[in-house]
Amino acid sequence: MLAVAERMRGRRDVPDLVIWHASGDDVECDGGCDFHAIACSDVEGIVLPAPKHDVPLDLVAPGERWCDDCLTIISRSE
Ligand SMILES: [Zn+2]
Ligand SMILES: [Zn+2]
Repeated sequence: MLAVAERMRGRRDVPDLVIWHASGDDVECDGGCDFHAIACSDVEGIVLPAPKHDVPLDLVAPGERWCDDCLTIISRSE
């Protein structure tokens, strides 16, 4: 699943967390985009994003997780 990373800054003892959102468009990513739409919002997106990534839905990685809203949308559309 093509996904866009949102980095949540941790506070003091809390490490940074990466939230993966499903991509909100099918625009080809050349790695130089200044905006990525996300599936869970019509208005919000990721500004100055990292390139889109292919992320497994059963992602298990420390400090990384899927956006709950995006997961719901994905499971509805399948
Ligand atoms: Zn999302
Ligand atoms: Zn891009």
